[in-house]
Amino acid sequence: MRYCLKTAFFAFFSLITVYATSQGRMHATSLSFHSLFENQMSGEDILRNSAWLDSIRSVEKAALQIYEDTVRSWKKWSCVGNHAFGKNRGEIPMINDVNALHPYFRDQVQQLITICKEKGIELAFVETYRTHAKQAEYKGMGKKYTRSGAGKSKHQYGMAVDVVPIVNDSAVWHDAVLWRKIGVVGERLGLRWGGRWRRPFDPGHFEWTGGLNTVDLASGRKPFIPKQKELYPCLDQDINQLKKYWAAWEAEQSALTRK
Ligand SMILES: [Zn+2]
Repeated sequence: MRYCLKTAFFAFFSLITVYATSQGRMHATSLSFHSLFENQMSGEDILRNSAWLDSIRSVEKAALQIYEDTVRSWKKWSCVGNHAFGKNRGEIPMINDVNALHPYFRDQVQQLITICKEKGIELAFVETYRTHAKQAEYKGMGKKYTRSGAGKSKHQYGMAVDVVPIVNDSAVWHDAVLWRKIGVVGERLGLRWGGRWRRPFDPGHFEWTGGLNTVDLASGRKPFIPKQKELYPCLDQDINQLKKYWAAWEAEQSALTRK
């Protein structure tokens, strides 16, 4: 009888483990790649286009949906045009899909969006992952844009994001009080805020270091996840998949610069 009970318990806990593992697997497939901007638009188009603004508002919801994960999914990452948000940002399209970010950082960014929304501040993604080609383009555009060359920005590791607040359907770049409110939220989440920088002052920029600098990251070191590590049971698979997508974008955008 005792033996039977033991066997029953063993079977029960095995089932639980299998179930938990399958939930973990679900996490891997939830690394979703969706499309918000199939076509690029000019800044004016964007400001006139309410569908675009609706799509910004649905970013958070859309990112939580589960999409089929295929090798070509990276093609569906949302991109925005170079003059979106009323600023010249070069010729290479900006990737602004939240799914292009490191899974841990992506969750921090989702929290930033959610908490700001609760405070009545609507944020839009300007740029998430940035290819080496795009980084080199910014570097070439001058110190106003960046001081970091290709591979030297956290954007090349899916660990930085650029956001902008949207007020009355327009991007607001120069409201110091508003930026400060957003910066405080990001810093409470443990993110480094570009609003503390002077050259360039970059209040829309948030990054996660994971205890590493870009030299460490370039050499393949893995960032340290400070808490809730158990929430990322398939992190290595997710990162490997992400790296394939990043590589595909790198190839596409470096080909653009050779044209
Ligand atoms: Zn940035």
